[in-house]
Amino acid sequence: MSEQSVLEQMRADIQRALAKPPEQRHWAMIIDIRKCVGCHACTVACKSENKTPEGVAYRFVKDAEDGEYPNVQHFFMPNQCMQCANAPCVKACKDGSVTQGKDGVVRIDYARNTGDPKVAAACPYGVMSVDKGDYYTDGTPKREAYEDAATFEYGDKSGRKGKIGKNRKCHYCLHRVEAGMLPACVSTCIGEANYFGDLNDPKSLVAKMAREKGIYIFQADLGTKPTTKYLGADAYSCAKCHE
Ligand code: SF4
Ligand code: SF4
Repeated sequence: MSEQSVLEQMRADIQRALAKPPEQRHWAMIIDIRKCVGCHACTVACKSENKTPEGVAYRFVKDAEDGEYPNVQHFFMPNQCMQCANAPCVKACKDGSVTQGKDGVVRIDYARNTGDPKVAAACPYGVMSVDKGDYYTDGTPKREAYEDAATFEYGDKSGRKGKIGKNRKCHYCLHRVEAGMLPACVSTCIGEANYFGDLNDPKSLVAKMAREKGIYIFQADLGTKPTTKYLGADAYSCAKCHE
């Protein structure tokens, strides 16, 4: 029998997690920055999946440098919501629309959300935004249909109009995960740099990766307790600037 690929293994992990009651799952992502080649395919996949407009990106990849000339290393740092267990955005939200689910994912109830800019500003990682209503095709003769199409985020089928003026951020593609699929960024990554699954399942690949040496928590000193973590940061001196 052929060995299971990384993607097949993570899909099997999701199926096992979905067989459990929701409160027993803890969705998590670990990103190995040594494997990221900076192709931005994850950013494009996320934009396509969630139809995020101009000014809103749930997933983006930053260029980073380490060292001094002539000993300089160039690497890539994928960024997205950290799904913090102690989330500043949840604390800053006065309308009760930004909450953490029992599965660990911090979600936004678009029906209640008032798009308070203070909620987005409370995120120390800069990964939440307010949808200002801009379209990529503004100023062109015709708005493209995809820009108003339903996104299915949190099972919501209202399309773009229900999201204008709201806070927006990554939700680990919960609508895909709960249907047995991987988040769009994970299934698209050519470097297999992303591990996703149920942290509460010790047999899952993401739980195994979480036990690896060198797990890096971005800005751990903030006390936000991120669920999204990194591997391979010890190959660079990330901690020098981001304790
Ligand atoms: S990373 Fe930012 S948006 Fe995501 S849960 Fe933490 S504070 Fe909220
Ligand atoms: S798709 Fe994978 S390799 Fe490409 S930028 Fe995203 S994380 Fe890096």
